[in-house]
Amino acid sequence: MAEPYPDAIPVDDFVTWTDWVLSRFGFRPSNVLPLLSVCRDELMLPLVDAVHGTWGPSFDASSLAGLPFLGRTGLAAALGHAPGEDGRHRFVLFVLPHVGVDGEGGVGVVRRPGVRRDTAACGALVVISEELAAPGPAGEDDPDDLEMGLLRAHVAARLVDVPVPGLPVLTDLVRREAVAVLDRLVAELGTPAAPVDHAVFSGVLVHRPDGVDEVAPREAFVTIDHHRVRLLA
Ligand SMILES: [Zn+2]
Repeated sequence: MAEPYPDAIPVDDFVTWTDWVLSRFGFRPSNVLPLLSVCRDELMLPLVDAVHGTWGPSFDASSLAGLPFLGRTGLAAALGHAPGEDGRHRFVLFVLPHVGVDGEGGVGVVRRPGVRRDTAACGALVVISEELAAPGPAGEDDPDDLEMGLLRAHVAARLVDVPVPGLPVLTDLVRREAVAVLDRLVAELGTPAAPVDHAVFSGVLVHRPDGVDEVAPREAFVTIDHHRVRLLA
């Protein structure tokens, strides 16, 4: 079986590249607020640590699977924390769902330290994937399971009249949805007197066997004064 995500690169190389590519647009660790929209899974921590090591402490938009549910209120709070001494506020958004890959090229499983069996990654997306493959009656909204309900709703809205996707396609669908939500809400924040610029780095965090993490970059751009420059071919 072909190796999944053959274009993935080491996490540190990915984060170093974000710093390098943004420096020519005036984004520096001292004048940005990083914002992370990743899964709640503890397996995300090496990536989170790498981002913090380069860009400093982040505002957290994480949820199950990595969809951002902080909403306008959360982003308005983040804006209040973003540096703006030169009259501009800048966000660097990291949007990365994740997937485990086993030694045979299977996707959706990972071996965690101290756990002697394969476990799901991303667990929430594996559940959604199973539900899509064998749909049952629609359940009631569960106030004790809000993130999963919102995740289901976002996926369903993007799956109208298209075939049921496999896990890699579903993962990228959620990634694109997360980018779209954040891009839209951040674009609402700026005013002519107090502009907000933002960069987005998005991909899939791939957990390979033996604890090796890589990032498959999928989308990167910077938006300054509503003018977008793509950073990834
Ligand atoms: Zn997850």
